[in-house]
Amino acid sequence: MPTTLADRTVPFLTSQFQRIFELSRQLKQPVNLGVGQPHFDVPDEIKSEAIRAIQQGMNGYTLPSGNGDLRQLIKTSLDKQNEKNNDVIIACGTLGALTLAMQAILNPDDELLILDPYFVAYPQLAGLLGAKVTYISTYPHFQPDPDQVARAITSKTKAFILCSPGNPTGVVAEPARVKALAELADIRGIWLISDEIYSTFIYDQTHISPAKYAEHVIVCSSFSKTHALTGWRLGYAYGPAPLIRAMIAIQQATFVCAPSMAQAAGMIAWDYAMDKYKKEYQTKRDWVLANLNPRYEVTKPGGAFYVFPKCPAGSATQFSEKAIQNNLVIMPGNVFSQQDTHFRISYAVDDTTLQRGVEILNSMV
Ligand code: PLP
Repeated sequence: MPTTLADRTVPFLTSQFQRIFELSRQLKQPVNLGVGQPHFDVPDEIKSEAIRAIQQGMNGYTLPSGNGDLRQLIKTSLDKQNEKNNDVIIACGTLGALTLAMQAILNPDDELLILDPYFVAYPQLAGLLGAKVTYISTYPHFQPDPDQVARAITSKTKAFILCSPGNPTGVVAEPARVKALAELADIRGIWLISDEIYSTFIYDQTHISPAKYAEHVIVCSSFSKTHALTGWRLGYAYGPAPLIRAMIAIQQATFVCAPSMAQAAGMIAWDYAMDKYKKEYQTKRDWVLANLNPRYEVTKPGGAFYVFPKCPAGSATQFSEKAIQNNLVIMPGNVFSQQDTHFRISYAVDDTTLQRGVEILNSMV
């Protein structure tokens, strides 16, 4: 067959994520700690609002910038938090927002700094744009080091990404580091892309966005994880007006808009209290930390719903394959990292699944 696909498809087709996904599909009833989405359902009030919107005919395109009422609601809330650069776009999930932001910022051969470990899509998106990635290791504590980031900046660097709480580590960046990174972006004239998708799930402190401290910050987030509507594709970004304008123009020519009924329901979701779910995940986090065999080395995660322990021996790929032989799905570190020493478990599952998963892990050391 002639080669008809672009070279840029290769990293997607050969990813380690696909491999684990294929292997786990062979299991009949796996204990699955591999899935990164909430295990609770969308709250009823939010569902009802989406249904109401469909029935009342809100089924056409919205503006590419998004539903005006939802944009205004988010903007008003940012105003209250004294976020200055708060022009808003409604996007198709955090990934839609990240895609637009990177398209608006990165030229081919520009450099993007990524803190390692990272969310799997960051280097893939950079690759689609022909941008170069420089990885900055944050092992073993997973805190970003502003000095290290400063040293990695070259004349080609356009942006760096911060994700706090992080996927796959759950680690929340310390406030002083967030401030220093934000200031660095302004001093060096590069963009800080802040992925704040897990900001609702922070257990030991309050969320602090780098957008509080600097101009060159674009915040990308969504309702996906916070409200369990990953399939609704409802996200948003906010930042300086010229960047948001460019993102709106690109959205017009690509996604057009986020789903109209999801945007309508976002009006209810924005102020919907998710405290009970947050408490539940905090309890699960504490349980996992208390019950993982002490032979697993773990950095305490302050947020999200992930734990990223070190493998007791061998590579994470070998360890994850051994877990699959034991009917357990976990994610090997090299899905999210240039090194293959750790593995990710998601505790966004019911208690029985979590207990069975941790039992299997403990039987493996
Ligand atoms: N960013 C991070 C850090 C994630 O973990 C995920 C999903 O796992 C996404 C973005 C994608 O989010 P969305 O479904 O809102 O596009």
